[in-house]
Amino acid sequence: MTGVDSLVATAERNAAEWDETGLPDEVVRAAARSGIAMRDGSATELGSTAERLGAVCTSLRSLLTVQEMVFAAVAKWGTAAQRERWLPPLGAGELIAGFAATESGAGTDLSAVATTFDRNGPDLCLSGHKRWVTFGQVADVMLVLGRSADGLATALVDTSWQGVTVHPVHGQLGMRGTRIGHVVFEDVIVPSDRVLAPAGFGLSHVVATALDHGRYTVAWGCVGMAQTCVEDAAAHALTRVHGSGVLSDLDSVRGELGRSAADVVAARAVCERAARARDERVPTALLATLLAKYAAAAAAASVSFRAVQLLGSAGCAPDSRVGRFFRDAKVMQIIEGPAAVAEVQIGDHVLAGGVP
Ligand SMILES: Cc1cc2nc3c(=O)[nH]c(=O)nc-3n(C[C@H](O)[C@H](O)[C@H](O)COP(=O)(O)OP(=O)(O)OC[C@H]3O[C@@H](n4cnc5c(N)ncnc54)[C@H](O)[C@@H]3O)c2cc1C
Repeated sequence: MTGVDSLVATAERNAAEWDETGLPDEVVRAAARSGIAMRDGSATELGSTAERLGAVCTSLRSLLTVQEMVFAAVAKWGTAAQRERWLPPLGAGELIAGFAATESGAGTDLSAVATTFDRNGPDLCLSGHKRWVTFGQVADVMLVLGRSADGLATALVDTSWQGVTVHPVHGQLGMRGTRIGHVVFEDVIVPSDRVLAPAGFGLSHVVATALDHGRYTVAWGCVGMAQTCVEDAAAHALTRVHGSGVLSDLDSVRGELGRSAADVVAARAVCERAARARDERVPTALLATLLAKYAAAAAAASVSFRAVQLLGSAGCAPDSRVGRFFRDAKVMQIIEGPAAVAEVQIGDHVLAGGVP
């Protein structure tokens, strides 16, 4: 059994409970240490892992996503010394990473962040309020986006440092197991060797890299979610007594399953296309990933919507898996770039050069 096999088996048993309680610290750390992001593997392998985790637990898949986002940002934009310092513990899951960009006044448009990195002798002084940091309650280090005198900048900030306070978030719509935190940074002294990439590159380069990697694993997680929803809906339709037969006797029910299956197959195809582009390192990989995340999140939203409908009250039950994925899928259409923004970006490419 591989680390991923055993994680999937554990998540299958516990995902409903984690959705209520949040992933326990020891589960987060054990999962991170099991090497879920497979950093030596290909994009195709990474996608497959994200799909398998996504098929059982969005929150666990989100751990892979955040670790991968921060790892990728350091790998691409860190100096040799920073890569040597950070990549081994992040890659081995010895450090849990958080990504702290969003603020109350800056979500989709992150250029509006108000968090500041002020000069403090040779160091920086960080102040600001970040919101919605996935696994913020567990993270050892956060990649923080802020404003410096020389432009938007990013730095790796230890959560144990003086001036860092994490406020737990409970009861959000989806990704309920992800131990989200709103984070206050109050005059936190940040040594200059924690700054990633030159000031001015924080959003356009560092955060852009992180979000691209985030979109990729979110997309595959959505394929897994959608696949599970079709399977759960089919199993229910075959057994749920309806009149003298079962639900699957109805043409309309079989039609719904057919539409959902087509959505899953199409979502998987765009994700495979993104995987190939990433493995071949072609310049269109960014756009292919954006498109894959948009399409797969839409598929997960519509397939889970139909699955809840088909299961009826069973889909609304507290421990319903399709119900959980219905909530999670909506969040996937908002994070890492909302659907409405992705549509415009894809539309721009259509106008510039045809259907991407
Ligand atoms: C469960 C969860 C986990 C999260 N985890 C993290 C995390 O780990 N780190 C982090 O930094 N953030 C995180 N976020 C925040 C998330 O990235 C933001 O919610 C997201 O970027 C959208 O920002 P916003 O909520 O401020 O919405 P807004 O920016 O206010 O947008 C609201 C809506 O307006 C529309 N809209 C906005 N801009 C445009 C546009 N240009 N064109 C057309 N329509 C537009 C879209 O429909 C959008 O959904 C998380 C959020 C949630 C819910």
